[in-house]
Amino acid sequence: MITVVVFGDQLHRSIGALGDAHPSTHRVLMVESRGKIASRPWHVQRAHFIVVSMRRFAHELRAEGFDVDYRHADSMRKGIESHRNDYAPSALVATEPNSYNARTLLTRLNVTTVRSNQFLCHPEDFAVFASTKKSFKMEDFYRWQRRRLGYLMQSDEPAGGAWNFDADNRLPPPKTGHDRWATPKVDALDDLDRDVVASLPSSCWGEAPTGLWATSRSGALARLRHFVDHVLPEFGPHEDAMLTDNWHLAHSLLSPYLNNGLLLPHEVCDAVQEAYDRGLVPINSAEGFIRQIIGWREFVWNTYWREMPDYRNRNALDATRPLPPMFTSGNTSMRCMSTALDGVYQRAWVHHIPRLMVLGNFALLTGIQPLAFTQWMWNSFVDAAEWVMLPNVVGMSLYADGGVIATKPYAAGGAYIDRMSDHCKGCAYDRKKRTGDDACPFTTLYWDFLARHADRFARNPRIVTQVRAAQKLTDLDDVRTTAAGVLKGVDTGHT
Ligand code: FAD
Ligand code: SF4
Repeated sequence: MITVVVFGDQLHRSIGALGDAHPSTHRVLMVESRGKIASRPWHVQRAHFIVVSMRRFAHELRAEGFDVDYRHADSMRKGIESHRNDYAPSALVATEPNSYNARTLLTRLNVTTVRSNQFLCHPEDFAVFASTKKSFKMEDFYRWQRRRLGYLMQSDEPAGGAWNFDADNRLPPPKTGHDRWATPKVDALDDLDRDVVASLPSSCWGEAPTGLWATSRSGALARLRHFVDHVLPEFGPHEDAMLTDNWHLAHSLLSPYLNNGLLLPHEVCDAVQEAYDRGLVPINSAEGFIRQIIGWREFVWNTYWREMPDYRNRNALDATRPLPPMFTSGNTSMRCMSTALDGVYQRAWVHHIPRLMVLGNFALLTGIQPLAFTQWMWNSFVDAAEWVMLPNVVGMSLYADGGVIATKPYAAGGAYIDRMSDHCKGCAYDRKKRTGDDACPFTTLYWDFLARHADRFARNPRIVTQVRAAQKLTDLDDVRTTAAGVLKGVDTGHT
């Protein structure tokens, strides 16, 4: 018998090596690594999601007739080695894993790998795209993907007459009607959910699972249907808005399933294309969503493979601050930060703007060490994986890659957060003030950041205007003094 090794983020019957497998000729090995679960303080919903999804997938494969060796081992390596000793398979095969370390491990253990079809642009295909360009942007890649995959195309032209409808999106939050977006689906928990939660180490933290995150293929498919039928028509316009009384807005909440294989990207895009073809969703919603999947997600995936293995250690801005206590305690008077941290605590998820413009922006402005912040994000989010975290956190959020993925740092003061959220009203700080005891930490640190990195960004056309404005501030000395006080408060948990 041939053994197919299936990793916990490859849970789909048609992915790579498993796609060609048959119960009469193939056995399946899945390893639940005790070492990995105990290695970090995971959010309980993340740990539960990963373990229960794996166990349900193993159950489905058994129901199909496969002999599944579901092993509890100290590590993936030990799991594979002990399986080899116990079963002596004629061959061990796996689909190319999604992490650099896992690929290295399989090479060391002489496990044959099969090309992965889990993403829509394999790194070999990306190399073809990249070879035609001196430098490239996500938008170029996205158009190349649209043409080759055929989504939202009419012959060689984009449907709706434009490639990008972003101008119709990015609206500030609406003043009223905060219940306009469909409520996310929630399933009842069963005995397996409860058993797994009870077995997790005490280092896990956060609100216990509620049934929000599906842990099976059928649950993920039901979430996709719910999204396309009820949420997608609203996707886009308020994509960047943040509301205290509505955490999901029109976000799809599909990233966990795309990342662990319960859904494949083409299944999601096909469903969106079909709804668009039937006239059920406007072009700005369909295009905005397809761009996230075939554009951003695949661009990030390929950036990871182009930049590894040293991407983890990039620190272009020489940021050295340890993770401040508020990230683990949740205690802060900054209303935007406490709302985002509470969202993470409640459901191991906040949407991309709290990730980028609140949590990430805070880490950028305060100079948190990139690896420390990445690890906190990785521990905390239900959809986290190294390939998606590094480009988004080290690159996009912290500019620690020196501009590989973003052409400028995503630094912003309180004015941006005030425009895109309802957090500033009722906050202990005044978002318009950059000096004084009640100055908004974001506003103070924003100007301080620009002045601190003026030399570095003086030649960056996308940010030079703000840098010059910071240098010309008449109260720059006061700003610097206030910033020093804010940073002291951040370090001691008094902000
Ligand atoms: P939607 O807003 O509905 O978007 C649809 C889909 O597009 C997502 O499900 C996701 O698969 C994809 N997508 C959109 N933007 C990105 C992106 N920049 N990178 C990769 N995929 C994207 N996404 C993760 O899947 N895992 C992470 O660990 C993660 N960490 C992030 C950290 C930071 C600092 C930032 C700025 C972004 C991060 N993202 C991550 C990207 C994005 O925030 C999430 O994919 C999104 O919020 C997931 O919610 P959703 O499924 O409702 O997304
Ligand atoms: Fe955040 Fe500043 Fe607004 Fe308070 S005033 S919510 S700290 S941006």
